Amino acid sequence: MACKKTHTAIDVIVKDLPIGQEGSGRHRCASCAYEIGYENGLVKAENINLESILDSLEDSQKGARRHRSPHAAYSLGYYNGVIESYK
Ligand SMILES: [Zn+2]
Repeated sequence: MACKKTHTAIDVIVKDLPIGQEGSGRHRCASCAYEIGYENGLVKAENINLESILDSLEDSQKGARRHRSPHAAYSLGYYNGVIESYK
């Protein structure tokens, strides 16, 4: 299934991430990965199974987020979520 979310704001962040299609993240929606990372970062989730998270994502071949590394997207989202949690 392909991701049908709009992701307008997140696509701006994700478009500058490296291209990466390794492992479970292959062809997955990087913007969805960012969103989940951000939510996990906000609550400082510590018991994370990234393979399972990436496996659960919808595919995306769309626009600026195409082929962007979901690993990079998740970790950047997590980082930004942690920073936000201290504001
Ligand atoms: Zn998505």
